[in-house]
Amino acid sequence: MIRNLSLARAGVLAVLALSGMVAALATISEAPDAQLLLPKTTLPEPLAIAVEEATLPAPASFIREERFQRGDTVATLLARLGIGETDARALARLPQLRLFRPGTTVAADVRPDGTLVSLSFLSPRDVLVRVERDGAGLAASESPAALTTRQEMKSAEIRSSLFAATDAAGIPDSVAMQLADIFGGDVDFHRDLRRGDRIAVAYEMHTLEGRALRAGRVLAAEFVNQGRSLRAVWFAAADAEGRRNGGYYAPDGKNLRKAFLRSPLEFSRVSSTFGMRKHPFLQTWRAHQGVDYAAPTGTRVRAAGDGVVEFAGRQGGYGNVVILRHGGNNTTLYAHLNGFGSGIRKGARVAQGEIVGFVGQTGWATGPHLHYEFRVGGTARDPLRMALPAALPVPSADLPYFRAQGAPLLAQLDFLSGTRIALFE
Ligand SMILES: [Zn+2]
Repeated sequence: MIRNLSLARAGVLAVLALSGMVAALATISEAPDAQLLLPKTTLPEPLAIAVEEATLPAPASFIREERFQRGDTVATLLARLGIGETDARALARLPQLRLFRPGTTVAADVRPDGTLVSLSFLSPRDVLVRVERDGAGLAASESPAALTTRQEMKSAEIRSSLFAATDAAGIPDSVAMQLADIFGGDVDFHRDLRRGDRIAVAYEMHTLEGRALRAGRVLAAEFVNQGRSLRAVWFAAADAEGRRNGGYYAPDGKNLRKAFLRSPLEFSRVSSTFGMRKHPFLQTWRAHQGVDYAAPTGTRVRAAGDGVVEFAGRQGGYGNVVILRHGGNNTTLYAHLNGFGSGIRKGARVAQGEIVGFVGQTGWATGPHLHYEFRVGGTARDPLRMALPAALPVPSADLPYFRAQGAPLLAQLDFLSGTRIALFE
C-alpha cells in the first residue's frame, strides 16, 4: 500500500517535472491523502496542451478510428467518425461498405466541418479498401493488404479453466483451440485438466502496419499436464510426391496425432466450463460400458478417428446414435444426439475430427450428455485408458531438417519454462 502510494506520487511528480510546472508541486505534495493526488483536475496536462494549441494553427483534418460493433449500421459508424451527412450518404452508396463486420476497424480522415478526406478499412478477406475524394464525389479502391507475420510467445498457468488462463495471458481463443487439438490425442481436455497445469506457446501473429490483426498457426507448444510435459513442434514433412503435409511432432520426431482423439467432444469456450468439475452423469465405465460427457445441448461431437458410418439413426435407449467403423476392427458409438452432422449417413466416409452430431438427450437420458463407446472386435474398451497408436513420425530423411527448424522454437519454450520457474521460486 505504501509502495503504491509512493509510486503514484512519483508518477505525478514526473508528469509535473516534464510539463515544466514546478510551481504546482508545492500545493500537490502537501495534499494529506494519496487519493487527492490523483484527481484529473490537479494534473497539469490540460493547461500545457491549451498553451500549445494557442500557438499552433488549427489542424486541417482529424484522423479517427472506430470499431464496427454488433448492432451498428454503416450510418451509426460514420456518425461516430464525425463524417457529415452529405459524405455519409455518398459513402453508404458504395458497395464496399457492405463489407463492414463486427470487429472491422475503420479509420477516417475528416475535416472539422465533417468533410471526408479519406477513409480506409481492412475487409474480411484481407483486402484494404480506401475511399478518397474524386472531384466532387468519392471513389473507392481496393488493394491486397500487406500483412506481415511476427511470432509471439506466451505462457499461462491453469487455475480454473483453459480459457480463463489463456484470457489472463492474452492468448487468443484460436490459439487455445489449436492447443486443445494439438494435444487432443494425448489429453482429454474435458477431464484431464488440473489446477497448476501450464502452457507455453509460440504462434504466428498477422499484423498490418505493426498492429496485431489475428493469430495464425501455433508453431511450438508445451503443455505440462498433471506433472507430465508434452511438447509439440509444427513441421511440414514432404510425402513421396514431394507435397508437404504439416503436423505436430514431439521433439524426438514422434507424431502427436493419434489414430483416435482422447475425447470426441469438441473443446470450446462453452463446453470447457465442464472441464474441471465432477460430471453429474458420469457413471463408472464398467457399469455401462461407455463414457458419459455432460455438455450443453448442441455441443459438437467429432469422429474420434477416420472411418465409415455403420449406423446413423434412432436405436432404443441410445436415442439418436452414430456408429463408426474404423480400421483394425474398431468401432466407436455416439449416443443421445440432438441431431446428426451434415452428410452423416450409412456408408459415408468421415475423417477424424469431422462433426458426426450434436449433444442432446434423446433416448434414455436424464440430461444433455454424450454417451461414448469404444469397441475392439465387438468388446467394449475404456477409451480413457487405451494406448492409442500414433500417426507416422517425421521421416528419417527429414529428421536433420526437423531438428534444425525445431531447435530455436524449443529453446524459446525452455526459456519460457525457465522464467516461470524463476517467478514461482
Ligand atoms: Zn452413458
